[in-house]
Amino acid sequence: MNIHELSVTVLKEKLENKELSSHEIVSHFLSRIETDRKKNDRINAFIEIFRDKALKDAAEADKKIAAGNSGELLGIPLALKDNLNLTGFPTTCGSKILEGYNSIYDACVVTNLKNSGTIFLGKTNMDEFAMGSSNETSTYGIVRNPVDRSRIPGGSSGGSASSIAAGFAPISLGSDTGGSIRQPASHCGVVGMKPTYGRVSRYGLVAYASSLDQIGPFAKNIEDAALLLKVISGYDNRDSTSADIPVPDYTDGLEGDLKGKKIGIPSQYFTKGINPEVETIVRNGIDKLKDLGAEIIDISLPHTEYAVEVYYIIATAEASSNLARFDGIRYGFRDKSAENLLEIFTKSRDAGFGDEVKRRILLGTYVLSSGYYDAYYLKALKARTLIKGDFDEAFKNVDAILTPVSPTPAFKIGEKSDDPVSMYLSDIFTISANLAGIPGISLNGGYTQEGLPVGIQLLGSHFQEHKLLKIAHRLEKAINI
Ligand code: GLN
Repeated sequence: MNIHELSVTVLKEKLENKELSSHEIVSHFLSRIETDRKKNDRINAFIEIFRDKALKDAAEADKKIAAGNSGELLGIPLALKDNLNLTGFPTTCGSKILEGYNSIYDACVVTNLKNSGTIFLGKTNMDEFAMGSSNETSTYGIVRNPVDRSRIPGGSSGGSASSIAAGFAPISLGSDTGGSIRQPASHCGVVGMKPTYGRVSRYGLVAYASSLDQIGPFAKNIEDAALLLKVISGYDNRDSTSADIPVPDYTDGLEGDLKGKKIGIPSQYFTKGINPEVETIVRNGIDKLKDLGAEIIDISLPHTEYAVEVYYIIATAEASSNLARFDGIRYGFRDKSAENLLEIFTKSRDAGFGDEVKRRILLGTYVLSSGYYDAYYLKALKARTLIKGDFDEAFKNVDAILTPVSPTPAFKIGEKSDDPVSMYLSDIFTISANLAGIPGISLNGGYTQEGLPVGIQLLGSHFQEHKLLKIAHRLEKAINI
């Protein structure tokens, strides 16, 4: 088997047995990324590659391994979404406005990864400021789906998801504000997980919508995702929403059956708009859970129909505030033709932000403005509480909830780029988890006749990641793709 087809668990074994060196592993992934870069229809998963640094770090890791040291991810390469700060390297968020900005500190997840011995391969491409579902809005170009290069990989963490599917990295990190880990994982046929809000520190993640953002893992399988989650999770006093709850060993006890487990199927997620092939694949997943001994229970999440509207009010409101800091003075790009202070702000923001980001800043500023605040923003907050309440109620009776990730498989590049509302509607099955703050996993459920992967989503109650990973692992084994 080729190095890029191996899971992290196997790579770790081979490092320990000295069958492979970290230098060999890292060189292999770098050469795959670089070969793809020369193609006309390149995947474009990376904004930057850290060739020299990665090879140097790999050589260091090999010395440590030889000296008998260990670390959860010692010598294992990883790709980082480009909204996570890594000291000394650019953080662009896929935006022109951050051109020339170099990170001056490490995100908490980066510190945790460094402590575990991880090698950083590079920064992955993304929708500008994580706004999007297709990875078509980056100033560094679109990202293509490795399964079918005429299609989108999903977004906004399309670079991180496609880097796993294309064999450019064994694991990667993304961020999920409304589905940006789970949806691209589904479209690329890999595993992606959004942890509970507060499980992973957001310190050093460039904020999009602070009450919704969470960092999470991409991997080939659930076991690798569990390992990466374990490394990045935990309390951090630099994020005031970080939870001081112990981190279990998520890789522990993944095997077994599902006797006695109750899985809820919400009627609102199996509606008319869903593509029939997607529905068949997701229902097949439900059958597999039954075979494993789980009890399947029909449930209702009655406020689901408001989720898209509520999300796009809250997310844009928070984004308009978070993005106010990009003023042409403090970070990155400044328009040189500006002649006074006001022009520095207006011209730099005009030239630095893309259309989708501007649309959201306008919408967010509008819903927060006096006179509209009560009608939109405050109303949305109340509806958010109802959506969260639906989940609290459901989790009194079930261990996990199973749904589709996206109503359709990956669509064609350009298909929705002129129609923002239809793009927003494609997030319908993922955004509720962010509004409620609960964890969610997307795992590959199978392929359509055209060969496109279709994800299955499992949602759990707050801080029930371990239970969720066990259910997901058993389902993954039963689907056995
Ligand atoms: N597609 C959603 C949006 O554009 C979600 C993005 C995300 O999770 N970062 O807001």
